[in-house]
Amino acid sequence: MLIVMDQKATPEQVENVVAAIEARGYTARPIPGGERVAIGILNNEGPVDGSLFLGLRGVKDAIPVTRPYKLANREFKPEDTVVCVGDARIGEGSLTIIAGPCAIESEHQSLTIAKHVKKAGGQLFRGGAFKPRTSPYSFQGLGEEGLKILKKVREETGLPVVTEVMDTENFDIVEAYADIVQIGTRNMQNFSLLKRAGLSSRPILLKRGMAATIDEWLMAAEYILEGGNSQVILCERGVRTFVNHSRNTLDLSAVPVIRKESHLPIIIDPSHAAGKRDQVIPLSRAAVAVEAHGLMVEVHHAPEEALSDGAQSLYPEQFKDLCVQARSVYDVLHGR
Ligand code: PEP
Ligand code: MN
Repeated sequence: MLIVMDQKATPEQVENVVAAIEARGYTARPIPGGERVAIGILNNEGPVDGSLFLGLRGVKDAIPVTRPYKLANREFKPEDTVVCVGDARIGEGSLTIIAGPCAIESEHQSLTIAKHVKKAGGQLFRGGAFKPRTSPYSFQGLGEEGLKILKKVREETGLPVVTEVMDTENFDIVEAYADIVQIGTRNMQNFSLLKRAGLSSRPILLKRGMAATIDEWLMAAEYILEGGNSQVILCERGVRTFVNHSRNTLDLSAVPVIRKESHLPIIIDPSHAAGKRDQVIPLSRAAVAVEAHGLMVEVHHAPEEALSDGAQSLYPEQFKDLCVQARSVYDVLHGR
């Protein structure tokens, strides 16, 4: 249930409605909007009787919310959420490009790639220090040493950095170094991790679970929002299907659905969807055409030597082309 206050409702009237909601044993969550305040009712089991609140002063409407996610729901918050990091305003009328290697391998590797990313017009640098690998024998990431390299990259290039957190144990240290904390596909329903992310002051990039429905994904975002962190960016990275011509199947239709259902920004990771570099540029063009707010792409200066995901990593020259093409599609779409 969403209680919509009158445009002219006073702060006292809002407080009064909050008190009335809480007196019924529910949680009230005021959501200030551009034109009027709305108050979400949470923690209700079963439907809420809107007529209980319609008679209170300052109340304009009581709207039932049919979806299980509330705080992530556009009905709760009609305005787009915009996440500001560095020069990027993710979710606003612009295209944000995040790029870098799958894993931080060394200072030389990261700085070399970051310089290419910056020159081509990427706005944020990505790279994993803690890597979730299918095999325990594969490179697991440099851990804290990798985080220190990310700090160096930020200092030398000015690019904010995105890196993955794999568990609650390492959350403190990852958020100390990261500008955006990534939760990967394998952890989308790690509820302890989501709850910890809800307490973070860093924006969270929440990847879609490789077998998750949109509802499950938005419920995962709900955990973070409910914990008090409103800065969530969703990232579609492909879902598992029966095909073997690509690593995953990029679900482009997730973008219009998310944009309709939620106010949260949504970006696309074509690299993990494709698994092969020749698909990454076409998928990026398509991602922009369906109005994703941004792209997150893997780039490596020597992909044949990469310690993870070399086959899907673009050469710097290809990344340059990707930026030009993605921004051209964006401009065409916006009549520029
Ligand atoms: C990554 O971005 O490095 C990664 C591991 O992605 P995903 O969680 O989508 O597999
Ligand atoms: Mn990767």
